[in-house]
Amino acid sequence: MPDSYSAALTIDIGAIVANYRLLAGRTAPAVCGAAVKADCYGLGAAMIAPHLRRAGCSHFFVATVDEGMALRPLLPGAKIYLMNGLPPGSERDVAGNELIPILNSMGELERWKTANRGLGARPAGLQFDTGLNRLGLSHDDALHLIADPHRLDGLDLALIMSHLSCADDPEHPQNRAQLRRFREITDSLRLPPRLGNSLGGNARALRSLAASSSIFLGS
Ligand SMILES: *Cc1c(COP(=O)(O)O)cnc(C)c1O
Repeated sequence: MPDSYSAALTIDIGAIVANYRLLAGRTAPAVCGAAVKADCYGLGAAMIAPHLRRAGCSHFFVATVDEGMALRPLLPGAKIYLMNGLPPGSERDVAGNELIPILNSMGELERWKTANRGLGARPAGLQFDTGLNRLGLSHDDALHLIADPHRLDGLDLALIMSHLSCADDPEHPQNRAQLRRFREITDSLRLPPRLGNSLGGNARALRSLAASSSIFLGS
């Protein structure tokens, strides 16, 4: 360590893996994924994600395409979701690296459908904004998709998600309000049948209303 630095960060990978196992145990039988965006929150995604993979984690979430491409060869067989969606022009990299974009707008949804035309549908996720006010399809978008489910034709939906904005505060009324909105949307959406492919199989779309702290809000 150079003399000019006065602090060092010691990362205990065993503790991170133990935390993953604890959280996965609390969420079972639901699937427990790992958010490893922003270089695993500064801890070093390339170092940590493979340990989580060996601990049984098979769903990883990053923000950007670059992060997903860097992790792809390190996480064989795992699903890697892009929370920031599908930037214009990234369609080839996303499809070629078997990354799963979380579509956050009707524009992204249409672009992913267009990119997959002729290739067969590749998996995607859909994110609804239920109160985060930062990312995701709006309530009006949700109403349009519920009224006209054919707009989802040609999509292989692996995951429907939304992010809680106040999960750190168990008493906050926003948690229940977001859960109610998320259930209303996901119970009303009619999804196209899943097409079956190497990434997705024929399972129904997973639903995730998450934020790490929400694991402690109950089922
Ligand atoms: C960061 C982020 C997550 C993961 O949140 P954690 O509470 O850190 O697990 C989920 N969804 C979105 C949209 C995010 O930006």
